[in-house]
Amino acid sequence: MAPADNPFQIAQRQLDAAAERLGLDAALHELLRWPLRELHVTLPVKMDDGRTQVFHGFRVQYNDARGPCKGGIRYHPDETIDTVRALAAWMTWKTAVSDIPLGGGKGGVICNPKAMSQGELERLSRAYVRQVGRLLGDDMDVPAPDVYTTPQIMAWMMDEYEFMHGGRHRPGVITGKPIPVGGSLGRADATARGGCCIVREAAAALGIQTEGATVAIQGFGNAGQYAALLAEQLLGCSVLAVSDTSGGIINREGMPAEALVKHKLDTGAVAGFPGSEPISNEALLELPVDVLFPAALENVITGGNAPKIKARISCELANGPQTPEADEILHRNGVFFIPDFLANAGGVVASYFEMVQNLSSYYWSADRANEELDGKMTRAFHEVYECARAEDTHMRMAAYMVAVQRVAEAVQLRGWV
Ligand code: GLU
Repeated sequence: MAPADNPFQIAQRQLDAAAERLGLDAALHELLRWPLRELHVTLPVKMDDGRTQVFHGFRVQYNDARGPCKGGIRYHPDETIDTVRALAAWMTWKTAVSDIPLGGGKGGVICNPKAMSQGELERLSRAYVRQVGRLLGDDMDVPAPDVYTTPQIMAWMMDEYEFMHGGRHRPGVITGKPIPVGGSLGRADATARGGCCIVREAAAALGIQTEGATVAIQGFGNAGQYAALLAEQLLGCSVLAVSDTSGGIINREGMPAEALVKHKLDTGAVAGFPGSEPISNEALLELPVDVLFPAALENVITGGNAPKIKARISCELANGPQTPEADEILHRNGVFFIPDFLANAGGVVASYFEMVQNLSSYYWSADRANEELDGKMTRAFHEVYECARAEDTHMRMAAYMVAVQRVAEAVQLRGWV
């Protein structure tokens, strides 16, 4: 990985810029540049063919000054410790900017879940918790789903953790669980729903009509699929283009989101959707749409393609999709981008609601979960937007300023620095 593309170096550069603007104390700044703790694990797993395969994984606890570490676990063939560190840092800013009483962490396992059976995934997930479980707990560190991890995987992990703790029920140790084992209504679509609340507020602030607005979505996993459904349902938008790892499709008349999601689930890809034409991932990002949702992985909008981005609003449902070079270019060109750790905070906000329900053993209605989510997201957007206007800067810098200030305050009150 070239240093310029290293997500952790990018996360540190973003923090450095905010720290300078905030005039942060040097020791405090240095503390916030690094994870507090990290664990590297080696996981032997019996595969279906009788062989044992050895996997490598990580859990990074970035900062817990504001509450237990919180953040998902990714299963990905290209996972690296620096990617997990960056994601753990972004979780720290995400919980702070959305003002929930949690810190930031992240986990990852280097594996290719698409090539593994359910049994192999279960054994890998249990092996991961047998190693990392000693650092987890609803008062210490609480994982959740992320790229290629699912509610089923969360259920296995919770089950293994409870075995390790004498069979005591501890549903709040992990979030994003299926509903029958302590999941929260509203958690499944919360990342996209939160993103749509933010787009609604951003569009109103910028004087853009969402009814009939055009949308392109890069990445069609959990976040991307629900973004299509909810942008159509809640905001009245029209989905023009979507893409996944096998390529993209476009129909300038718009595509019905429900049929699109069904096609993806039935065939495994968006390609071949009736009435659509193929489009490359690169060309999709450059479409002149009202709203672009980068909803896949890191570093898709860079100094290279930033001058060609023509969306009016870019709502970063992915973590780390845009580099610092691209930030400056988009800002200059008047593209209103909403940074990942604000735009996609709906997932962790709903995770926090799930923990609250688990700890009180009382479960909310979907309406309550969605309403409370809307309230948190709307408030977070306006706090950041006001800061961006007051400081005459872009939304990423403003979000960092709000979040870093909150974490810094907790660190100082604890007397760490
Ligand atoms: N993986 C999601 C994220 O990046 C959710 C994390 C969580 O719910 O803890 O925000």
